[in-house]
Amino acid sequence: MPDWITHAVAAYFLAYGLKAEKKSLVVLGGLLPDLLTKFTVFFRYVLPPDELVGFDIFHTPLVALLVAVTIAPIFAYDYRKSVMLISAGIASHFLLDSLQGPVGYMFLWPFSWKPYTLGIIWSENLAPLAVTLLIVGIIIIRNIWLKRLPR
Ligand SMILES: [Zn+2]
Repeated sequence: MPDWITHAVAAYFLAYGLKAEKKSLVVLGGLLPDLLTKFTVFFRYVLPPDELVGFDIFHTPLVALLVAVTIAPIFAYDYRKSVMLISAGIASHFLLDSLQGPVGYMFLWPFSWKPYTLGIIWSENLAPLAVTLLIVGIIIIRNIWLKRLPR
């Protein structure tokens, strides 16, 4: 998985491109699949290691979308729009994850248990994070510079 900063920034740019009123919901969706996988930590003390293989289902589009539909009512915002914005973030998450190799993800679960990846970026490669931080840095400096210009 790409790092959480890259996921959050990509989701924010997507929200910006979509002109979303609640950009935070898209960012939440961008982080949600990886947040869900953290639930496996609770099961590590209960189940033997072999049983943990199946818990990758938390990092699948179907489970993430089910969670989006489930948690959308807790936000003080239109239910349908909440689901759509969170789902857009989830889509951005899996789009970024699909670029990463060598181990793929079960994007088609429960229809297929086969992991898929485009294998363009390796998990230990920091280039996506560096590019993300560079873009964010340029935007911050640009905004500071624009505020200092005489009006
Ligand atoms: Zn992920």
